[in-house]
Amino acid sequence: QLIFEIMTATTTQNSSQSTAKGTLYVVSAPSGAGKTSLLKAVLGQMPELKLSISHTTRQQRPGEVNGKDYHFVTVEAFQQMLKEESFLEHAEVFGNYYGTSRVWLESQLELGHDVVLEIDWQGARQVRELMPECRSIFILPPSQDELLSRLTGRGQDSEEVIQSRMAAAHREIEHFDEYDYIVINDDFDLACKDLSAIFTARRLRKESQLVRQQALLADLLNQ
Ligand code: GDP
Ligand code: ADP
Ligand code: 5GP
Repeated sequence: QLIFEIMTATTTQNSSQSTAKGTLYVVSAPSGAGKTSLLKAVLGQMPELKLSISHTTRQQRPGEVNGKDYHFVTVEAFQQMLKEESFLEHAEVFGNYYGTSRVWLESQLELGHDVVLEIDWQGARQVRELMPECRSIFILPPSQDELLSRLTGRGQDSEEVIQSRMAAAHREIEHFDEYDYIVINDDFDLACKDLSAIFTARRLRKESQLVRQQALLADLLNQ
């Protein structure tokens, strides 16, 4: 009875945000800061966290798998999806279109799963407007030199693409202030721990635990 009362009180307090819903995270960073590598490592250890797979019109890089890294689509297919309002958000980044599919995302949150969007600052803005309860994280490289060396070291983009991404990095970093958390990706393992800490702290909030630990709490409170 007590646990039921606590849950009802908590749900009423947060009426705009049902307790059954998962948390939406938005992660942005200048290209090459390491967000894909970091998220891959963290998500490998946190199976309850799901990564949204974006649609993009950019060319597939060697090693990328269609449907796993991105849904690679033609400009025509992308525009058709836009017309059908299939995207929660979309943006043009480095001359290519990127977008987050609405249906999959909403169904995952409804099921109570936490979802991560790896999107640029323009997309992050749109998502914050639509879902103000989302949490946003900005990942920074330790220096400009290191960013350049990572972009070059990744060995997947041409010299011209790398130069345009370095220039764009400044423009992306200018938006760091719009985010809730900042993670510096210098030492990779430390950055992984920092990122995990953000996801973990959120899961441990009373509102989330009340839903997840309902049976345990009922048992512990049972006299
Ligand atoms: P990388 O960041 O160098 O690995 O390059 P990507 O091609 O993976 O990403 C290019 C840019 O597009 C980045 O700024 C991403 O954050 C952004 N991006 C990726 N997916 C989406 C999306 O679904 N929506 C939006 N708005 N941006 C995206
Ligand atoms: P993004 O997705 O932000 O464009 P990536 O995850 O593709 O960045 O990382 C860019 C390159 O930098 C990759 O080759 C990756 O292995 C490397 N990298 C990522 N984090 C670190 C780090 N902390 N130290 C050194 N190299 C890193
Ligand atoms: P890349 O082409 O190197 O994979 O990604 C370039 C940039 O596009 C990254 O900053 C990435 O976060 C962003 N990006 C990837 N997918 C999306 C998306 O669905 N929406 C938005 N807005 N940006 C995206």
